[in-house]
Amino acid sequence: MAKTPYVDKDVCISCGLCINNLPDVFRFDDDGKAECFDAEGALEDDIQTQGIDACPVSCIHWQ
Ligand code: SF4
Repeated sequence: MAKTPYVDKDVCISCGLCINNLPDVFRFDDDGKAECFDAEGALEDDIQTQGIDACPVSCIHWQ
């Protein structure tokens, strides 16, 4: 089963970087925080580098 990223919304600063980098994986929720809506929208390696590693406040994790 594919790994799934999740966003710690208490920490997310809504910068939009993960959504710009991975628009088929992340989107803004109704509160303006990032959320994962399709864990299979990109390769795991790309989610790691362009999402998890790129997030300026390190609030995206694998679950
Ligand atoms: S990169 Fe991090 S801080 Fe920016 S919107 Fe995505 S989860 Fe939030």
